Amino acid sequence: MKRQTAQRRAIEQVFEQHDRLLSIPEIRAYGSQIVPSLNQATVYRNIKQLVAAGRIRQVNHPDLGTRYERTQKSHHHHFHCNGCNRVMVLPGCALKDDHIVPDGFVLESHDIFLSGLCDQCAGH
Ligand SMILES: [Zn+2]
Ligand SMILES: [Zn+2]
Repeated sequence: MKRQTAQRRAIEQVFEQHDRLLSIPEIRAYGSQIVPSLNQATVYRNIKQLVAAGRIRQVNHPDLGTRYERTQKSHHHHFHCNGCNRVMVLPGCALKDDHIVPDGFVLESHDIFLSGLCDQCAGH
């Protein structure tokens, strides 16, 4: 029981340290720096529980497939860096809700996935 709690806490800590979309192998790699015994099955099981508890959110990225992020209240978008393959969270939204859809339509949600190079990979 104690060990399970430590593993779950390690996974939550990974999301606190890396505020971006993470794949299962990334979560395992970072998590095993905290709890060395962390294996893939454990990561899957804990992620499932954290998603069910509403603490972690599953995101289906059009290019990268299933990723996970810490549940955030505010609306945001994702930026995929083609250089380092990380997916960063971009806070806020440049789209105003009116005028995107034709008159009479009711907009309920949108997802935007941007890609390019992050500041480090662009060489600034
Ligand atoms: Zn990059
Ligand atoms: Zn938006």
